[in-house]
Amino acid sequence: MTKYIFVTGGVISGLGKGVTSASIGAILQMMGETNITIKKLDPYLNVDAGTMNPIEHGEVFVTDDGTETDLDLGYYERFLEIQTTKHNSSSSGKLFQKLIHKERNGDYLGKTVQMVPHFTDMIKEFICYNPGDYDYIICEIGGSVGDIEAMAFYEAIRQLKNDLGGDNILFIHLTYLLYLPATKELKTKPTQNTIRDLQQVGIIPDILICRSEVPIPKKIKEKLSLHTNLPIENIISAINSYSIYQVPLYFINEGVNLILSKRLNIKKKINTLKWKKLNNQINSLNDEKKLRIGIIGKYTELNDSYKSLLESIFHASTYHNYRVNIEWINSRENECFFSDTVDGVIIPGGFGLTGIETIISLIKLVREKKIPTLGICLGMQLMIIEYCRNILNIKDACSEEFDTQKSMVISKMDDEEVMGGTMRLGKYKINLIESKIKQIYKNNTIHERHRHRYGVNQEYSNLLHKSGFHVVGTSDGLTEIVEMDHKIHPWYIGCQYHPEYQSSPFEPHPLFLSFIQHCISKIK
Ligand code: GLN
Repeated sequence: MTKYIFVTGGVISGLGKGVTSASIGAILQMMGETNITIKKLDPYLNVDAGTMNPIEHGEVFVTDDGTETDLDLGYYERFLEIQTTKHNSSSSGKLFQKLIHKERNGDYLGKTVQMVPHFTDMIKEFICYNPGDYDYIICEIGGSVGDIEAMAFYEAIRQLKNDLGGDNILFIHLTYLLYLPATKELKTKPTQNTIRDLQQVGIIPDILICRSEVPIPKKIKEKLSLHTNLPIENIISAINSYSIYQVPLYFINEGVNLILSKRLNIKKKINTLKWKKLNNQINSLNDEKKLRIGIIGKYTELNDSYKSLLESIFHASTYHNYRVNIEWINSRENECFFSDTVDGVIIPGGFGLTGIETIISLIKLVREKKIPTLGICLGMQLMIIEYCRNILNIKDACSEEFDTQKSMVISKMDDEEVMGGTMRLGKYKINLIESKIKQIYKNNTIHERHRHRYGVNQEYSNLLHKSGFHVVGTSDGLTEIVEMDHKIHPWYIGCQYHPEYQSSPFEPHPLFLSFIQHCISKIK
C-alpha cells in the first residue's frame, strides 16, 4: 500500500517547503525506502509555470518530458536523484481546465459540478496517480494554509486520510517562529494561528517543523506541543543553515527519521553515508579558496529566477573545494561591470528584447579579455550574435526574436522542430564531434533538456564553424553547442540547451565541472 506524506506551510511563503519535502524524501531514501516520488500542487490559476514571470515566481524548471514546472521540482530531482514528469506537478488552473473540459464533454451526466466532490476528486486523482508503483508519494502543497485558491487542496487531503486510513498518511506542517531582537524572544502566536487554520480545515499535523533564525528553547517547543497535541519530539526546529544540503542530516539530528519509522512502520537501518560525505565536502569549504563568477542576466533581482544555475555552480565548485561569490550584473540596468573582478562569466537564458544590447557589449568584453565564459540558451544566441557582428563583420546580426528586418543569425525554428507546440521543450539527444566538449562529456552522444523557440540559422552555422567558433554538437541538424577554438579563447562555450536542469550535488554536471575547473586554474 502506497503511503502519502503531505507538506503544508503557514505564516509566510518562501519558508522552504520544497527543500523540506526533498529532505523528507532523502531521509526516506537513507532509511532504505527508495521507491519514492514527490509531487507539487500549486494553488495559482495559471495552467502551468511556463508563462509566469521569473522575477515574480522564480525559474521555470523543465523536466525530461518537457513539462514547464515550478522550481521546487528541481529540489526533488537534485536531492533524490530522481526524474520527475508531467505527473509530478499540477496547479488549480490545470485541474480547473481539466474539470471544465470534462463538464463540456458531458462527462458529469447532467449533475451539478461542484468544488466538493468533483474538484476535490480531481485533486485526489492527481495525488494518487501512481505510474511508477511508488511506495511513497510525498506531496507539497504550495502557498500557505488559508489561501483562498488552495482551500480545495486541504479538503482533498483531509478526505484522503479517511479514504486511505490514518496509518498511510502523514501530515507535516512547516511554520515560522518570529524572532523579536529587541526582547530576544521567539514569538509563537503566528504559528498558533496557522495550526488553528489547519485544524479548521480538518487537518492535524503529525510533525511541526519550525523555521527560525535562532535555536528554539525547550519551553517554546513545550508550548507548541500543547497547541498541536503532539509529543515534544514531533516539534522540529529548523534554524537557517549555510547550505540546503545540510537540512536532511539536520532533520535526522532532530529525530525526524525516528518519527517516520514509528508512524510509517519502517524497520530498515538508516544509512547516512552518502549525505555525510556531501556534508563533509560542504563543511570543508573555506574563504581562502574562493572564486568570483559573474552572471549577466535579465532577472537578477530575484535569486530564485536562476535557481538551478546557482545550484549547478555550487555543485561543481563544492566538488572542486571552492566557494563561489556571485557578482550579479543586471543587463536591464546598464550597470557598469568590472570584468577584472570576475574569474568567469555565465550568461543564462532569457526571453525578450530588454537588456539585450547591454549583454552583447559585455560579451565582447569578456571574449576579448579571454575570461572563461559559458552561455546558456539565450546566452549562447547572444554570443553568436556578438561574434557575427564583431568578427564576421555581419554588422546587423540579430535574432528573429528581436528584429525581423536584420540579418537573422538566430531564427525561429520551424513547426516540426518545436513538435507542434510553440517551444522546443524537454530532453533531446545531441551528437558530438571531436572537440573539447566531447572530452568534457566523455561521450559521443548526450541528452540534455531544452526550452527555446529560436535557434542558430543553418545558413550561418557553416560560417561560424569554419571561422573558429566551432559547432561541435547538433541534434537533427540543429546547432546545440558552439565552442571557440582554444587557440583563440581557452574556454568560451555556448549551449542551446540547459545543462543546469540536470546537475546534482552527487553528480555535478560535467560542463559546470569543467567551467569551474578552468576558472580555478586561471587564478592559481
Ligand atoms: N528566447 C530564446 C528562445 O526562445 C532563448 C530561450 C531561453 O534562454 N530559454 O530561443
